[in-house]
Amino acid sequence: MASRPFRVGRSRTGLGLFATEIIPKGTIIAEYRGRRLRNEEADKLADRGNKYLYEVNSRWTIDGSNRRNLARYGNHSCRPNAESDVTRQSKVIIRAIKKIRPGDEITYDYGEDYFDLIIKPIGCKCDKCREKRAEKRRIARKKRLTKLARAARKAEREKVAQVEAKRAAAAASKKKSSSKTKSKKTGAKKVLSKPPKPVVSRQAVPQAPVLDVSEQRKAA
Ligand SMILES: [Zn+2]
Repeated sequence: MASRPFRVGRSRTGLGLFATEIIPKGTIIAEYRGRRLRNEEADKLADRGNKYLYEVNSRWTIDGSNRRNLARYGNHSCRPNAESDVTRQSKVIIRAIKKIRPGDEITYDYGEDYFDLIIKPIGCKCDKCREKRAEKRRIARKKRLTKLARAARKAEREKVAQVEAKRAAAAASKKKSSSKTKSKKTGAKKVLSKPPKPVVSRQAVPQAPVLDVSEQRKAA
């Protein structure tokens, strides 16, 4: 292995470490270097925005903010391919936890405290979290689409029902109107055929010679 198996390069979040050769699992990739501070002093620096403080133990912290500390460019991931660890000599090292291929970004888990305080508020940009968000978006989109499809199907059904209702109404009104014209015609016929009857009956009443006959019989 050459002097170092990685380079500093552009990453999604600014700069990052990228493997330049195959890094076998278990390889110590870099040391997290910097001046040692008492934890109380480190707390003050943290309040002032120093994000490169690595607490080694209950007493000491490494201030890794110096740019010569290349390990500081290693980004956080919730699905990392490396880890940070404290050696027996209280050195902080970055170690591969799986085989890393050339071009892969070297990432490690910054730990719960750092994640909750600094990463979570702005949203983690690691592959795993991006995939999770993409999956959530995909499910939401799918839900939205099925909702839309359901609404479209309902609208289509209603449209068909409306068209059918209109057609039925039109057919019914056609029947009615045709029966109306028929009844008008028959009515007209009735009107024509009715009057003669009364005329006949009216004529029949005055004629009524039968009455005269019965009267004549009674009389006879
Ligand atoms: Zn993440």
